[in-house]
Amino acid sequence: MGASIAYHLAMRGVKHILLLEKDDFFGLEATGRCAGGVRYQFATEANVRLSLVSLPMLERFEEEIGQAIDYRKCGYLFALTNPTDVAVFQHNMGMQNRLGAGTQWLDGDEIRRWLPMMRLEDVLGGTYNPRDGLVDPSSVVMGYINTGKRLGVTALTGVEVTGLRVKAGSIHAVETNQGNVSTPHVVNAAGPWAGVVGRMAGVDIPITPIRRQWFTTSALPEIPADFPFLIDFAQSLYFHREAKGLLIGMSNSDEPPGFDQNVDPEWELAIVESAAARMPLLEKASLVSRLAGLYEVTPDAHPIFGRTPVDGFSVCAGFSGHGFMHGPISGFLMSEILLDGQAQAVDVSQLDLARFAEGRMIQEYNVV
Ligand SMILES: Cc1cc2nc3c(=O)[nH]c(=O)nc-3n(C[C@H](O)[C@H](O)[C@H](O)COP(=O)(O)OP(=O)(O)OC[C@H]3O[C@@H](n4cnc5c(N)ncnc54)[C@H](O)[C@@H]3O)c2cc1C
Repeated sequence: MGASIAYHLAMRGVKHILLLEKDDFFGLEATGRCAGGVRYQFATEANVRLSLVSLPMLERFEEEIGQAIDYRKCGYLFALTNPTDVAVFQHNMGMQNRLGAGTQWLDGDEIRRWLPMMRLEDVLGGTYNPRDGLVDPSSVVMGYINTGKRLGVTALTGVEVTGLRVKAGSIHAVETNQGNVSTPHVVNAAGPWAGVVGRMAGVDIPITPIRRQWFTTSALPEIPADFPFLIDFAQSLYFHREAKGLLIGMSNSDEPPGFDQNVDPEWELAIVESAAARMPLLEKASLVSRLAGLYEVTPDAHPIFGRTPVDGFSVCAGFSGHGFMHGPISGFLMSEILLDGQAQAVDVSQLDLARFAEGRMIQEYNVV
């Protein structure tokens, strides 16, 4: 988010943009640890509308930014095993297609014929969108950073924001481990840490860090080139091609909130067992790499855009586990909010911080 916001502000001619990153490199946290999935399939209009603008921005990324990002349109396939989910996803598909997403319904037999290497006897059907896919997160981050720098952005690593100074209700300065910076404008794009950064200015931003993890396997020649980003929705278990093997993850609904980013070996075993039950040929593979990262979860699983009660202090965070794909449009929308007073490209006025205090939360069913 920070890289995209800085780039889009610089594209509008803004000078003196300072992007601060506490780590030694950009994109090592949620974005660098994410599964790289991009999709049009969501349960709310708000998310579908963000995807309808953001994913085409990713398609144009290399042409516009000059950085290849390896967009692979493998499609997301949500495989459904209970009738309630079938009804909800068919309803969602109608909404997605009314907005122009192009999602399709596949029945259980079609899915089984497509993926004979999997055990899918209990699958009733599912939704598939061939334009969903995978993108390399680090390339997107570095594309924005490098182009932003050429446009005049100062992007610094190893600089941790340690405090925010507020005077008479307005942001006044940023304190860091390398010194202080006077400024009338701060955008909090601290991802899973956005709540912590909010508290530095006395603002309550309800973002909870929740660990999620995945692993990759050694080569599996049996996996066909057209293997989708497959989600066994009832189990929150997902598979997609990664190099010559698979990347496999599953959400632990009992994961306690916290900043621990170590892989939980017990949960890894649970993922391996569930995945092998779906795909017995995994017994032939070995684990090649593993990673845990943090979702940045808001009470309604939707992001927060725009102003806070402190003048000059805004926020762009809380994407609740699917923010990488919305990074391009979110940076653009923040540039509109900051420079024009409101977002035009997508109406995100309902995704403001005040909705939590005012009881205007959004309902989302498709969080994986
Ligand atoms: C395992 C996993 C899988 C995921 N899969 C997907 C997926 O398939 N598709 C998808 O779209 N999304 C996915 N997500 C979600 C996605 O990664 C996030 O929604 C998105 O990356 C959030 O971007 P961000 O810029 O808000 O946060 P981040 O990428 O975490 O960036 C915030 C940055 O702020 C820095 N920072 C924090 N505090 C400070 C401070 N005090 N001073 C200076 N710097 C600070 C951090 O170091 C960090 O680099 C996944 C997430 C995880 C964890």
